[in-house]
Amino acid sequence: MVEALRANGLKVTHQRTEIIREIVQTKDHPDVETICRRVRGRIPAVSLDTVYRTISALFERGLINRIMVDAKRARYDADVTRHNHFVCDTCGRIVDIDSTGRGGCRASDKLSEVGVVERVEVLFRGKCIHCVADQE
Ligand SMILES: [Zn+2]
Ligand SMILES: [Zn+2]
Repeated sequence: MVEALRANGLKVTHQRTEIIREIVQTKDHPDVETICRRVRGRIPAVSLDTVYRTISALFERGLINRIMVDAKRARYDADVTRHNHFVCDTCGRIVDIDSTGRGGCRASDKLSEVGVVERVEVLFRGKCIHCVADQE
């Protein structure tokens, strides 16, 4: 990803490398604040603004994925292969779901009259098994 960033004409600083390392090595779809907190464990001086701008740059170039949990909260995913997500509305956990099988979303035949689909985003929402267990 660092190479891709360079190829896209972005300066790759030490802070940016650490921000990229953080998003690549996690599978929990963190938000910008979480990424910032984790990077600060290694680089205390990193600012939320730097993290925000780096993540936005990666997203704009299609190098990472964004999951809009609601209108205000964006979560990020370094896995840009096609897959869907399960979002727990109780604890905020986001789990990758294979896009085959139940993840397949059937649209009406009218879709072809509306436009050309380039990607499909499916969010399964509910309570994760941990939150269900906590309730019992
Ligand atoms: Zn949960
Ligand atoms: Zn994902």
